Amino acid sequence: MAEINKAPRGTCDVLGSDSKKWQYVEKTMLDTAALYGFKEVRVPVFEHTEVFVRSVGDTTDVVQKEMYTFLDKGERSITLRPEFTAGVVRSMIEHGCVQDTLPVKACYIGACYRYEKPQAGRLREFHQFGVECLGAKAPAADCEVISLAHRLLNTLGIKKLSLEINSIGCPECRKEYHKALKEYFSKNSEKLCNTCLDRMERNPMRILDCKSPVCSEIAKDAPVMLNFLCDECKEHFEGVKAHLNAAGIEYTVNPKIVRGLDYYTKTVFEFVSGDIGAQATVCGGGRYDGLVSQMGGPELASLGFGMGIERLLMVMEAQNAPIPEDKPCDVYIAPMGNDAAIYATKLCSNLRDEGFIALMDTSERGLKAQMRYANKIGAKFTLVLGDSELESKKANLKNMDTGEQIEISLPDGLVRAVYEQNIKVATENLLEQVNKEN
Ligand code: ATP
Ligand code: MG
Repeated sequence: MAEINKAPRGTCDVLGSDSKKWQYVEKTMLDTAALYGFKEVRVPVFEHTEVFVRSVGDTTDVVQKEMYTFLDKGERSITLRPEFTAGVVRSMIEHGCVQDTLPVKACYIGACYRYEKPQAGRLREFHQFGVECLGAKAPAADCEVISLAHRLLNTLGIKKLSLEINSIGCPECRKEYHKALKEYFSKNSEKLCNTCLDRMERNPMRILDCKSPVCSEIAKDAPVMLNFLCDECKEHFEGVKAHLNAAGIEYTVNPKIVRGLDYYTKTVFEFVSGDIGAQATVCGGGRYDGLVSQMGGPELASLGFGMGIERLLMVMEAQNAPIPEDKPCDVYIAPMGNDAAIYATKLCSNLRDEGFIALMDTSERGLKAQMRYANKIGAKFTLVLGDSELESKKANLKNMDTGEQIEISLPDGLVRAVYEQNIKVATENLLEQVNKEN
């Protein structure tokens, strides 16, 4: 029987102390995407299974082994999205965006589902940020998309991620390459895993991406696509490199990268970290010039990337990348008794109207316990409200840093005093900084 006090294998809860990291990272993602003109889209968590089988490809690990597929009550085959590109492309075609102003630039953040063996950096529910750019065939587009990922990683303070790029050509030049691969692998066919034996006939390039140690060992010396590129693909790849150089983005050409999804053409790339163990690819992407038409849309050269947010956070942790501090509580109000509590509710409401973080006792604790709590949450100011304060309409706002008490009149004096004190503290900090610099 399933346990009800344990999350399913390969899933994670994000608790309060971690969620600020997620919020910060996700905001930085959307802000960076906006610098490049990408707008957020939100697509369903599940699609008709065919959407993924057709686009990701039926000889890939994702489709053959990893999809969460089920029949719904209407006997339709449904799959939880293992990635976003297929659903985003489906959506852009369905809503006619691909007939509108081009390029279409969409970005997304959300959960993906793959039935994998859970381990560090490999989950069954994980999250991706990514972008898709439809209708952009120039090498400048490849550079733009790579540059976006690069800028995002830099903005998040991540260092030492290497960018590896490759070209896996187009269906035309790949014909010759497939022939060469088949010839190469047929010499070792008795050692290949069963999945790869099937792949050898249908899509030999997939063998290069097989996770089995035996197959990867054999694949080590396989011919590389770079030596088979047609003139157009070669020229495109040279263009991408020229743009990356112009943008000052360092890269290495890694002819072994093929990516795990079938729709890729020409440029493919990965950002790889040396800090998080075996699951080292934080971001992977590339061109998919044939996908939009394959999904029923017009011929549109397109590209994008997907970035694993859990792996990104692992790298940030390993590298001690800075995460902005949580905003502390501005004022904690400690009421004593029922009347004071009701008055405290009103004061908190006034403070929140002005955008201050205001908290008060909601557990009917004694004054001592309340002050301990205020300390624990790092409240900047506290205000004790008892009978005498209610009667005199005067109270003391205490600066928890300095211990200084400021007498205020209630209710209006509170908001004013918090404003004044904040300005005072900010000015003092600024002066201190200026003095330090001189
Ligand atoms: P891998 O080779 O590690 O299996 P992949 O090629 O299957 O990765 P993509 O389909 O390109 O990965 O997905 C893009 C990114 O999403 C990956 O680079 C990774 O950061 C993240 N990702 C993929 N699968 C998982 C997973 N099961 N758990 C956590 N993150 C994942
Ligand atoms: Mg995978």
